[in-house]
Amino acid sequence: EAAAALAGYRGPGTTRDGHRVQVLANVQDGAGARGAAAAHAEGVGLLRTELAFFGRTEEPTVEEQAEIYAGVFAAFPGGKVVLRTLDAGSDKPLPFATPPDEANPALGVRGLRTARRDPGLLTHQLDAVAQAARSTGAAPWVMAPMVATVAEAAEFAAQVRERGMVPGVMVEVPSVAVLADRFLEHLDFLSIGTNDLSQYTLAADRLSADLADLTDPWQPALLALVAATAAAGQRAGKPVGVCGEAAADPLLACVLVGMGISSLSCAASSVAGVGARLATVDLATCQRAAEVALAAADPQSARAAAREVLAAG
Ligand code: PEP
Ligand code: MG
Repeated sequence: EAAAALAGYRGPGTTRDGHRVQVLANVQDGAGARGAAAAHAEGVGLLRTELAFFGRTEEPTVEEQAEIYAGVFAAFPGGKVVLRTLDAGSDKPLPFATPPDEANPALGVRGLRTARRDPGLLTHQLDAVAQAARSTGAAPWVMAPMVATVAEAAEFAAQVRERGMVPGVMVEVPSVAVLADRFLEHLDFLSIGTNDLSQYTLAADRLSADLADLTDPWQPALLALVAATAAAGQRAGKPVGVCGEAAADPLLACVLVGMGISSLSCAASSVAGVGARLATVDLATCQRAAEVALAAADPQSARAAAREVLAAG
């Protein structure tokens, strides 16, 4: 039955009762984007631009960047593409962008913070995105990683709007979830990166197998921050998506939709599983599943409680 449902998923994403949820893919280049389109993703929810430049010692030119971004936009003509500006640093060091000698790179100059040392990195990249958008007729959404303050978000948004594009930021640092209403005064959308949000909320290295129980996306504190951010989005009438690994878990995807999350972005290989699962549940059931998951004491009981509600339909 599950296999039949998987084979049957063609998008767009919707619950059984017709509540729309965009099911998008995380990609890193044009080939990945074409694969995602073939897997029935409705668009790209996270274009990890830094992965295209791994191992490089010099900043890629505007032309080279524009060509890569245009290849992704072309895979979804008229569709949604959310491009993330360079997330260099920590687990993804780029020699041309990040300092080599930090004691705590996960808490250091990574993501948007690399533009403090070299503002040109960001402005050149935004110029490249705008150029790719013009050449393909795309209207990309552009978001920054590792944002911590409202001032950073406002400054970033101004630079994106100046170029005629739609600005947002990732919710990876708990400070953004805590003040989501204030961030949304400056932005058109938020996208929750649960991989880093759990790392920074539980103070546990996302790459540590010893601490995997702490970075479990079903941790009550993580669920609470996601729910608070989704609620802020609903108050503002602005979309809040999830693009971390959490969005690839069909059970958790239902819970996220119940919290008010409006799009889910995961590996292309997970798109059909998530889309097919959503098609079997009603929004009201997702909302009840979110309630019981949020009330649970630990990840195991949150999973079990949500599973029970969703199974009862
Ligand atoms: C995240 O942090 O959840 C995320 C989607 O970004 P990345 O995994 O690339 O850090
Ligand atoms: Mg991240």
